[in-house]
Parts: sequence; structure tokens; C-alpha cells
Amino acid sequence: MKIKVLVPLRDEAGNPIVQEEEIQITFLKYIQARLGFGFFWKSGKLSPLWKGFLGLWIIHCPRHGFVVTYRQGYDGTLNCPFCLMESDVLSHRA
Ligand SMILES: [Zn+2]
Repeated sequence: MKIKVLVPLRDEAGNPIVQEEEIQITFLKYIQARLGFGFFWKSGKLSPLWKGFLGLWIIHCPRHGFVVTYRQGYDGTLNCPFCLMESDVLSHRA
């Protein structure tokens, strides 16, 4: 089956670019993502500033739909990058 995912890319200056991609996944992966586990997509770079490739994961966000993310922090949690960006903007305003 095909799903649309939002990919949070960065340009050379580190500015965010949102790209929409259509990808083919199995039904099992679809269910995995809908249940909140997410699944491994591929190794890649979301920014030209990254030195190497990281494992990219796809999760389902109730607000943004399917989004691409990567494991962050010491516990390696998967968070929606678009929700994080919004909460960053809000906390800078506060
Ligand atoms: Zn989100």
C-alpha cells in the first residue's frame, strides 16, 4: 500500500524544508505505525550538515500524519519533528 509521509529536511543553512513523499509499505508496517511503534524506513540524511547517515523511521502523528524522524536523545525516543518544531517556537515566545 502507498502512504504519504512528511520529510523534515534542512537546507545548507539549516532552514527547515518540508517535503512530501509517497512511499510503498506493507500492511504490517502500516499497522505498526498506526499503533504508535513506528517502523524503520532506511538509512539517510535529513540535512547536508549531518556527517553520516542515520536510521530514518516513520511514525504516525495524530496531528501531522505519517512523518519521518530519527532516534533522538539518550533513550532514543521517536518524536514527531513537526510537533517538536512547533513547541520550540512556542517556548521561545514564552
Ligand atoms: Zn506532529
